Amino acid sequence: MREFDDDAVVLRTYKTGESDRIVVLWTRTHGKVRVLAKGIRKTTSRLGATLEPLSFVHIDLVKSRGDLYIARHVQHRERLGVLRGSYQRINAGYAVVEVVDAIPSDDVADEGIFELVIRVLLTLDQEEFDPTLVPASFFFKLLAHDGSEPVVDCCVNCGRKGPLVAFDAQVGGTLCSNCRSGRSISADALALIRRILGGDLATVLHETSPTGAGEVMAIAHEAIEQHFGKRLKVVPSSADAASDQ
Ligand SMILES: [Zn+2]
Repeated sequence: MREFDDDAVVLRTYKTGESDRIVVLWTRTHGKVRVLAKGIRKTTSRLGATLEPLSFVHIDLVKSRGDLYIARHVQHRERLGVLRGSYQRINAGYAVVEVVDAIPSDDVADEGIFELVIRVLLTLDQEEFDPTLVPASFFFKLLAHDGSEPVVDCCVNCGRKGPLVAFDAQVGGTLCSNCRSGRSISADALALIRRILGGDLATVLHETSPTGAGEVMAIAHEAIEQHFGKRLKVVPSSADAASDQ
């Protein structure tokens, strides 16, 4: 496509040349797009402020060399001031966009993923929602979106209803005491995962570091790494949730 405009989220940026950056976007209807932002590292750059990681923008693009685009016009869709004012919220957002950047889907548009990411950003931008479980919840929602939702209502190996004592990302869900592999899972963590996947997410995010949150974060991280088959370097900060383990 020679030129187009679209809503987009900035996943990350990296240096190229003297004062330029490549800006990696996930767009609503054009999938992942790379933009050459010329002069963005100069302090006078207007583009710099609008193309920071986690920005939610509307952008006007024209094709440059290779698969790169150049931005003709960018404007914020949302300023996300609450998100930007909190280190914990920014880190939660980074954990999410890093995973989106790892999705092997160049040139494949997926509006469902775009909607999930936007919901994450808008959730992180509201004081009423605790950011602790936002990345873990996103990982579970993304797995469900990809048709890889973990089994958490019975033993994934033998089908027994319970008691379920372990979670193994390689097998894809919870396990009973006879079949156990992977890591052990507490009843609290299991209940939280069921609520996140079962439509109770908004209530979960109103609770500040609920019991089992640290475990849920570790399990979600394992499950998403297993799904993409690689290590992800940004681990959601579990310092605030670790105390319940
Ligand atoms: Zn079993």
